Formats: sequence, structure tokens, C-alpha cells
Amino acid sequence: MIDPCSLESKPLLSIDDALEKIKSAIQPIMASERVVLKSALGRVLSEDVVSPINIPYDRNSSMDGYALSSKDIVANNPFTLTLVGTSWAGKPYLGSLQAGQCVRIFTGAVLPDSADSAVIQELVSADGVNITFPANIAAYENIREAGEDIAQGCLLCSGQKKLSSADIGLLAAAGIHDVPVRRKLNIAFFSTGDELIGIGQPPETGKIYDSNRYALAALLAGSCYSATDMGAIPDDRQLLEGTFKQTAECNDVIITTGGVSVGDADYIKDILASCGEVKFWKIAIKPGKPLAFGKIGSCYFFGLPGNPVSVMVTYQQIVAPALKQLSGALANMPLRLLATCTTALKKAPGRQEFQRGILSQDVNGNFFVSSSGQQGSHILSSMSRSNCYIILSAESKGVFSGEQVLVEPFSAHI
Ligand code: AMP
Ligand code: MG
Repeated sequence: MIDPCSLESKPLLSIDDALEKIKSAIQPIMASERVVLKSALGRVLSEDVVSPINIPYDRNSSMDGYALSSKDIVANNPFTLTLVGTSWAGKPYLGSLQAGQCVRIFTGAVLPDSADSAVIQELVSADGVNITFPANIAAYENIREAGEDIAQGCLLCSGQKKLSSADIGLLAAAGIHDVPVRRKLNIAFFSTGDELIGIGQPPETGKIYDSNRYALAALLAGSCYSATDMGAIPDDRQLLEGTFKQTAECNDVIITTGGVSVGDADYIKDILASCGEVKFWKIAIKPGKPLAFGKIGSCYFFGLPGNPVSVMVTYQQIVAPALKQLSGALANMPLRLLATCTTALKKAPGRQEFQRGILSQDVNGNFFVSSSGQQGSHILSSMSRSNCYIILSAESKGVFSGEQVLVEPFSAHI
């Protein structure tokens, strides 16, 4: 098996070098705005947010039972205290607790001032106001101290954090109404190709549905991006050049698919060179070798290949980390793990491959992965069936069944 990249006149850029070039080319956006908490999911904090209050706000009970002072606990014998009231969640007992007294308390209710312990109701016997506690109960149990989650003035979430659902909950617990976030990235994307037809048009010989634009829209959805679908543009050099220039003026990023290879109708890289700057073109990965990265004015440009699986792979491996950096978020490496490969995998040395696989786990926690089927860059069905990439190094000459391989679950990209 011969990899076509062995026919290249000069060695292709490795994916690590490509990522490094992107990293040094990208300046994160700094502009920020305030958004209400409900709209902040997936946005990138522009500053640290500290808690204006203790969480919990008060010392409170974590169980239904009775609150008492540890000073009243008798070490080795049962003892009886007098019930003087009830503390409900949201309706605290307002009196003060004297020696020899206890209060009925429910989960989340505030402990009276001098109480520091709660005993679960299952351990206690009640006879009117006489509450008898067993021997050997522990002091300071079943309570949550004020500020034990986050103390007033302490960090809730740090700047550059991309807010998760747990962060939204945490900020809400501190009563935070709105947060400072970096502005959204403006991203325009379009596909190129004379053969493309839109959904709704009848199928026709020589034409294909423009699936890349749908996949890209889905990849860009739901995060801190404001993505504009610019449609499909034919392989027309003038039209493409005009669109590049116009789109670059009002966007942070342009992403295109198709027309970036070496065919006679592949204009993307040449146009990028004439109206901007090509930082690199072609990288040693499979699928996805023809990929142009550059700039038009202050707008970053990613020209992805046309084949649909190449679009998925290059977006996830190259574009997604770049967008994250540009959005001002902290970088983090995707989770990768070793799994036993249960199918043989074909590969020629030359390029790092991202084969599509199905990852599973047995009852002992061992990971297994198998090929999801045909691996052509036009085979979207095996991409759809898969739940991970099997990452094979550039040098790899293939894998025997039973060998350990490196796997990246799709959910590792967050
Ligand atoms: P290209 O890079 O333009 O030579 O395209 C490579 C392959 O991808 C060709 O078979 C194209 O028909 C196909 N292709 C290009 N654009 C799209 C698209 N938007 N949706 C689906 N397939 C595409
Ligand atoms: Mg084309």
C-alpha cells in the first residue's frame, strides 16, 4: 500500500506542527460583554468571578432529625432533651437553644445559634417533648457549615473558563445575575463546488447534496459562536474571490469546504494567496490532507477538504482547538485512552490517521475498539456509526487484531 503523500515534492507538515503554527498565529479576542446567567452556557468568562456570599449561607442540617448542642451529648449513655420547637427549610426556629434543649429539624433548615450537631430521626425516640437520644452519638454530624462549599470572597469560576452546566448552577447558587464574557466569535461558512445541490432539490446525475454545510452548522452549534451559513458557491474563481473579500470584512473566521486540492477547479488556496496569506497548505493526516490555513486581513481562514469525513476530522482536530483559542478559552487536550483493537486495521506509513471506530468497555472496565467499517473519506455512514477516532501514528504500518491502539472518544471534545 503506497500513501500518495510519498509522491509530494516536500514532506508534509505534521498535525502537531500545524497545530503549533495555528497556536502562534491566533490572537484571542479580548472584547467582552455582560450576559444574564441563563444565556451564559458555553460562553467564555472574561474575568474571575468571586462569590459575594458564603455557600451555604447558613449552617444547616443535611438530614431530617433533631438539632442539639454537642455540649448536651452524654458520651456513653442515652440522654433526654426537651423539644422546644421546629426548624423548617425556609422557616428557621427563631428562638435560642438553652442547655438541655433540642429542636426538630429538617434537611436544609438552619441550625439554631448554639446548635452544632444533628441526629437522624431514626435513632431517636420521642415521647411528647421528651426526646431520647442513644448512647455514643457523634458530635458535629449531619450538618453543613456556612461557606463549606465556597466561602464569601472566594473564586467561583476563573476567567477563560468556558461555562458548563455545573458552572451555571454554581453561579446561580451564589445569586449571580449576570457574568462578564468574551464576545461571540463571528464565523461564516460556505461550501464550494459545481456539483452541489440543496436539500429540497430533486436528485440528479452528477449532482450531490451539500451535506458538509449541514455537518458544519451542527459542529458550530450550541457554543460561543455566532455562525452564518453563506450557502454553496460554485467553482467560479471570481465569485469565490469576491465572496472571500466581502466575508472577511465582517467576520473573525471563514470556513470553507471543497476546492482546496490540486484539481483544475480547486481555486481556494490560490485565492487565499492572492487576497490574503497562506500560513500552510496540506498536512500529513488522513483523511484531510488538503487543508489551507491563513488570513485575509484580520480574518482567519480555514479551507477544509470537500470529502465529508475529512470535514469532520479536520474540523474536530484542527479547527475546533483554533476556535477555542480565538474565543479566549483555556486550551485543554482531548481525552485519549488505550484500547485493545479487535479488528485488523490497514494503513500505509506516511500520515497520521484518524480512523473511525466503535469503542466499548467490558464489565471489568477494559476498553475494546473495532473498526466502524469502510474508511474512505466519502463514507459518512461509518463516521455516523462510530463513537471514537482510532489514532494511528504516521509511522504505523497497520494494526493486527489484539494490538493496543490509541483512541479518542468523540465526547472527549468539550
Ligand atoms: P473537492 O475537494 O472539491 O475536490 O471535493 C472532494 C470530494 O468531496 C468530491 O467528491 C466532492 O463531490 C465532495 N464534496 C465537495 N463538497 C461537498 C459538500 N459540500 N458536501 C458533500 N460532498 C462534497
Ligand atoms: Mg470540488
